[in-house]
Amino acid sequence: MTTLRLFTPGPLTTDERVRQAMAQDWGSRDAAFIALTAELRARLLNVSNAADTHVCVPLQGSGTFILEAAVATLIGPEHKLLVLINGAYGRRMAAIAKRLGRVVEAIEWAENEPVAPDKVQAALQDDPAITHVAVVHCETTTGLLNPLPAIAEVVQAAGLRLIVDAMASFGALPLDLATLPVAAVLASSNKCLEGPPGLGFALIERSMLEAASGRSPSLSFDLHAQWRGFEDNGQWRFTPPVQVVAGLVEALRLLEAEGGPGLRLARYQRHLDRLLQGLEPLGYRLYLSHNLQAPIIATFRPRPDLQFDFEALYDALAARGLVIYPGKLTEAETFRIGCIGALQDSDFDELVEAIGAL
Ligand SMILES: *Cc1c(COP(=O)(O)O)cnc(C)c1O
Repeated sequence: MTTLRLFTPGPLTTDERVRQAMAQDWGSRDAAFIALTAELRARLLNVSNAADTHVCVPLQGSGTFILEAAVATLIGPEHKLLVLINGAYGRRMAAIAKRLGRVVEAIEWAENEPVAPDKVQAALQDDPAITHVAVVHCETTTGLLNPLPAIAEVVQAAGLRLIVDAMASFGALPLDLATLPVAAVLASSNKCLEGPPGLGFALIERSMLEAASGRSPSLSFDLHAQWRGFEDNGQWRFTPPVQVVAGLVEALRLLEAEGGPGLRLARYQRHLDRLLQGLEPLGYRLYLSHNLQAPIIATFRPRPDLQFDFEALYDALAARGLVIYPGKLTEAETFRIGCIGALQDSDFDELVEAIGAL
């Protein structure tokens, strides 16, 4: 069996220790699994220094499930949500709120432009009905990093609450909830945490979640009820993905052993640097300005001197066990290479060499 190396936004290459941690059974009501769940919730809070202010609510499913559950639980019919959009995931957040029948407003930027905090400030001044603001930290559509601290500052100055889709950044990019005014952070198991897919989680300010009892129109997507379940007896409300929990706990232990998010980010930055140093001289151009590109997933334009055929590129690399990702832009032909996952510098050297040899 060839081991695949996944240069994607997730699911990602996992460490062998993560896969081994999943190779057994647990009873959902067993003391050992209840302890594993408690460790999971505590470790997730510690990653962003949130133990004193926020509570952690894991939920079965992919990342979109936790986004939907959070909007259903935190935004009521009496609220108005402003979504800041510069890519597909911002659009998805607005679509979720609309589908739930919530009052939604959006400001949209081009996909190669960051959210501008002064525009957000002006919009909040113009519309006093807005109660919450939502933004994507790292927009996976392109890999663009939005200026979260500056956005959080203008939202706080307006006395409003900020909800952050940190799906592609949590565990690597700086996010200190003891100092950054963010009411709710949403992320999943299988991106920078390098765990298996199948679990999302929310870190929510305790008072905000306490006030959300009975608000969600959905039985399953109710983070208040899900939270009460954990608090009452340490167990999951419905069948837990036991192996995913075990794999993610092991992945969080490995994050700590690596030195925490700062050192993980440094490793991802080295991966991005290798991609740029290897691919730009060949004629592949980064889609974003370099200063906007987060070391999470990089979007490249094809070489102008070659006929671009994504399927052919994909197949040639996949034959060597190297898996890349298609672009997600409508206005430009691109492909994407993830910098995240349990990969090393040498994996990126091998990928660059394989692309160069095509
Ligand atoms: C991956 C991701 C999601 C969730 O996607 P799923 O496919 O549902 O896991 C949401 N937002 C961002 C920014 C993401 O990168």
